[in-house]
Amino acid sequence: MEITNVEPIRLERALDTITRRGGTSEQNITVTPVVVKVHTDEGITGLGESFVFDPTGEEAKFLEHGINALSKKLVGRDPREVTRLWHEMYVEVKRSGAYRALSAVDEALWDIKGKNAGQPVYELLGGQVNEIKAYATFPHFKESERLVEDAVWLSEKGFEAIKIVGASVGVKHDQERIETISEDLPEGMDLAIDVNTSYNTAEALAVAETASEHDLAWFEEPISHLDVQGMAELNERVSVPIAAYQTQTPHYPAIEHLRADALEIYQPTLDLVGGITSANRVATFVEAFDKQLVPHTFGPLINYAASLHVVAASPACSLIEFAVFDDEIDDPGEFIASPYVKNQEAVYVQDGGTISPPEGPGLGIELDEDKVEEYRV
Ligand SMILES: [Mg+2]
Repeated sequence: MEITNVEPIRLERALDTITRRGGTSEQNITVTPVVVKVHTDEGITGLGESFVFDPTGEEAKFLEHGINALSKKLVGRDPREVTRLWHEMYVEVKRSGAYRALSAVDEALWDIKGKNAGQPVYELLGGQVNEIKAYATFPHFKESERLVEDAVWLSEKGFEAIKIVGASVGVKHDQERIETISEDLPEGMDLAIDVNTSYNTAEALAVAETASEHDLAWFEEPISHLDVQGMAELNERVSVPIAAYQTQTPHYPAIEHLRADALEIYQPTLDLVGGITSANRVATFVEAFDKQLVPHTFGPLINYAASLHVVAASPACSLIEFAVFDDEIDDPGEFIASPYVKNQEAVYVQDGGTISPPEGPGLGIELDEDKVEEYRV
């Protein structure tokens, strides 16, 4: 089998823009997907995906160029040689920084490998190990009382945890919110907080102590993702589990984090870390050190499906992020970021909070080509 063409497809965002404040800066973010189709001479087409937060679509052009730059290494090659091709692409990407392009292409190669074998990707990775529960990322800015109401709604669906975004006002505000929300959460629902690397060590320690007192499920990206030693010190001093890795590339830095005992929860982002290949290796490292894998999966659906396959096959993982992008939807288990996917119901949080990878061969995702044309930029 040979790759005949590598086609990046930039798509219009299907979601509203969310304004996110972190420390002194403010960011407008959304989910702007870039799909890649890897075509072959045997009629099998692989799908992969990454995305950018940038609502203007400018950063998506950078991603598209990255995929085009990698395509010269891929055309004429056997797409089933995923590991070999990953390493050849990595030689370029470690200098160019085009990790999102590498990630999307890697997912598409795994999709082809699965379709060719007639097996879902998680079977190629060794088969499903655990039942997967979804936790709800809730990126909406509201007063604590309103968030508690939403937590009740999410708890009724079966979500076991809600993650809120912190650091928008400051330490005291986060501490008050942790106290108020955690005390009023419905039975069986945990709280996690994500500050997206906004705090310095002293600020993070103050929030972490409050989070520990109130038994939060985890404290995410408390300080700079580069400060591995700082995260290790926090992780030693407080009982709340420290979580991070969503901004790391590829799987190799996980070794340094594990040696330093910097994190309890590892959150590789498939659409950035280097695709299924890299996330699966992070999973293996994490398992060896008896830590948890809970991938960062805020984003579009093809990439989400790829993440589900890795999660299903990892003994270190039984939890996955599920972003509830719309707080007025009837069913918060529906995936709404990717209307260009035909079989969207294949990625759905069941009542009770469980979620499974699609059962079809490869990633198990089919595109709605009319919608792709509608959303194509
Ligand atoms: Mg995060």
